[in-house]
Amino acid sequence: MHARRVVLNSRPGKNGEPSPGNFRLEQITLTPDLKDGQVLVRTLYLSVDPYMRCRMNEDTGADYLGPWELSECVDGGGVGVVETSRCSALAEGDVVTSFNWPWQTHAVMMGSSLQKVDSQMVDGHLSYFLGPVGATGLTALLGVREKGHVTKGANQTMVVSGAAGACGSLAGQIGRLDGCARVVGICGSNEKCRALVEDLGFTAAINYRSEDVSARLKEICPDGIDVYFDNVGGSISEAIIEQMNRGGHVILCGQISQYNKDVPYPPPLSDKTQEILQSRSITREKFMALSYMSKSEAALFELSQLVKSAQIKVLETVVNGIENMGVAFCSMMKGGNIGKQIVKISD
Ligand code: NDP
Repeated sequence: MHARRVVLNSRPGKNGEPSPGNFRLEQITLTPDLKDGQVLVRTLYLSVDPYMRCRMNEDTGADYLGPWELSECVDGGGVGVVETSRCSALAEGDVVTSFNWPWQTHAVMMGSSLQKVDSQMVDGHLSYFLGPVGATGLTALLGVREKGHVTKGANQTMVVSGAAGACGSLAGQIGRLDGCARVVGICGSNEKCRALVEDLGFTAAINYRSEDVSARLKEICPDGIDVYFDNVGGSISEAIIEQMNRGGHVILCGQISQYNKDVPYPPPLSDKTQEILQSRSITREKFMALSYMSKSEAALFELSQLVKSAQIKVLETVVNGIENMGVAFCSMMKGGNIGKQIVKISD
């Protein structure tokens, strides 16, 4: 049978912006005979994520991430359905996911590399396994819980950067549910600001492209900032940290503003910001959702309940077609998404 796949066509360079031309679509033929343990899957949804920018480099700079190889099929988070199985644990019709799903319309995979999921956990909304009830939700929930020190009744103010994105939009809602008195989002458009306040219940939102972030934070957070969920790094983060209170906590989730630059992770802070962290005893520990996999089952169950009961609202931006994987990835890197960027591959 024929399938289509996306391969890495070229690298953007460590200091370059990725472009859709870095990816190439190919047609391949899949052999119909499965070996023992294998399954044929049809891809339903694929995820595009900021960490993939590192995989476009020859050296990812992270020991837990391998680079994508030129002219080889690209992979990442995916969800699909089993069409044929020679794996005893999986049957035709099962819905499965993996963090290493090839960007292919159909694929032959080892059943043991797939996790079977229950579509009731997402009320049939299967793309949510890549978002709020998947790696994105885990990042937001565990980030807030493990590094945020949010305490009910403590009148805390939380600021989230990258707030209208996949992790940020969930993290702010979790911060509010866990007891923050105020949750302020920073994002890149007025439409995103409106969605944060009107749809997701953020207290306020700041458009960093058109507003003075420092001045607006002073108005909105007169008592300072206690918890900062940092998705972006760079000058936005320095402006936020400057207004943090003594004993505050930075959840160091990601630094997307620096991903097209040849800098280590996490990128160095200015001397001034480092001095603020030290003198005010503000914690800023690197956070990796992957380090908390022993907590993932309970966390996914909780996220599923929060989404099904509409205590957490979900935003998604969906693009259709495997031919648009590169376009969707580059768009997400520049803020084209509200909520989780998903690519729908088949019905
Ligand atoms: P998002 O859905 O948030 O998409 C990325 C967003 O980043 C864009 O929509 C854009 O929104 C914003 N952005 C891009 N460039 C800049 C810039 N220069 N300055 C400010 N904002 C920018 O992606 P995710 O939710 O998947 O990821 C968010 C962060 O979380 C990333 O840093 C990622 O690396 C990190 N992450 C960390 C994990 C962990 O375990 N620690 C796991 C998963 C993700 P806008 O319009 O607002 O600019």
